[in-house]
Amino acid sequence: MMGTVRRGLGMFALAVLVLACGCGSGDAKDSGAKPGAAGKAPAKLLVIGLDSADWKLLDPLLADGRMPNLKAFRAQAAAGRMQSFYPLEKSPLLWASICTGVLPSVHGVDNFVKGDEEKPVTGSAWHAPAIWDIIGAAGRTTFVNGMWVTYPARPIKGVMVSDYLPYGRERNRPLTGLVSPDSLADKVVACRVDPQSFTPAQLARFFPDGADVAALEKAYPDVLQKLRDIWAADLGYLAVARQLKDQRAADLFFFYLRGPDMISHGFYHYLAIPPADWHRDPAERAAFTEIVARYYAWADEAVGEVLSWFPADQPAVIVSDHGFYGPRDEGKGTAEHSEWGIFMVRSPLYTPGATFGHVKLLDICPTMLALLDLPPAKDMPGAVLAEALTPAGQGRVPHIEKNRVTSYLALRPAAGGAPAETDEKVDEEIRRQLRSLGYIR
Ligand SMILES: [Zn+2]
Repeated sequence: MMGTVRRGLGMFALAVLVLACGCGSGDAKDSGAKPGAAGKAPAKLLVIGLDSADWKLLDPLLADGRMPNLKAFRAQAAAGRMQSFYPLEKSPLLWASICTGVLPSVHGVDNFVKGDEEKPVTGSAWHAPAIWDIIGAAGRTTFVNGMWVTYPARPIKGVMVSDYLPYGRERNRPLTGLVSPDSLADKVVACRVDPQSFTPAQLARFFPDGADVAALEKAYPDVLQKLRDIWAADLGYLAVARQLKDQRAADLFFFYLRGPDMISHGFYHYLAIPPADWHRDPAERAAFTEIVARYYAWADEAVGEVLSWFPADQPAVIVSDHGFYGPRDEGKGTAEHSEWGIFMVRSPLYTPGATFGHVKLLDICPTMLALLDLPPAKDMPGAVLAEALTPAGQGRVPHIEKNRVTSYLALRPAAGGAPAETDEKVDEEIRRQLRSLGYIR
């Protein structure tokens, strides 16, 4: 039954794609481009999600030359502050709104854990279709890795690597459902990085020059462990994306790093609390004060590598879900998030170097759909960004807005799919991490 609805709507979405494109006159100018349904190669999009990235932190790093890849991308992109939800919210909820274009009351992903037992919320929580479901209905493919609340990975048109990849490493058999399709499980699991494998020399990049990392680890084992865990998870996802090379041909390549947010929750206070207000060992502050900035410098290298896999003019978005204030009287967790994240888009539709006056979180999904030549739905509250448009964008964006489909909600994931494998040890591992972020008690 659901299958019929999905197929029916898929055909509908495809028909809309052709109509909305109005690109019958478009000719495949790119050499080697395969003509799409309307005679033009369908647009592809690279999305890089950096959880918690904030201009307040990035601007000085860009100015100092410590994030050369993001700086170069900024020059090619239109960019601005992205207004996230207020009251401040948790990342899973925000990313689900970025990916679905609808409010949490509609998509249903509104917490990390549920019930008295605090069971981590699984992928069945999504009640609205994500962008990979929407474009999948139009026959287009997605690679997505590490996105919140994607365990067990469910079948999509393309590849989904769940956010549970870093967990359960001590099990003698990986959890089932870490990736869809399951045939990629061995390849993906082999990309996991053991947090204990890093040598002090490898970790040294996060510390002031000349720091004795081995001695620091002896003095502050828990702090170092946090850094090891966060970096290992991000490196694992980078390795997966590197390993699955053929996925670079996907229509939507969605690369996501959670580490920047976790690093900020774990280490921002070393940076933000002035020395005069620091009442613990000053040596501790001195040792860890550079970790946040140095982690962003590493994230810039990761972004640079991912960008390098694609043509220099590949349409691309770099986005965060919220910004970061640092320690506040209100407490840890979401209280540390700021309302202002980042949004950058490189596309023939937007003017390179221009600045957006106003970008709202719910504008991101409609804009990403437009970049993929697909119309948003009328029940998506956000708009395709209409500032900083090039002449090509001025011709295109109003046309896409005029051709919104009524709703994509019928494309929501069917119930079922691969069952989540429950492992109380893994659940506790996740709760421990959420507690250390201040997200649950
Ligand atoms: Zn956070």
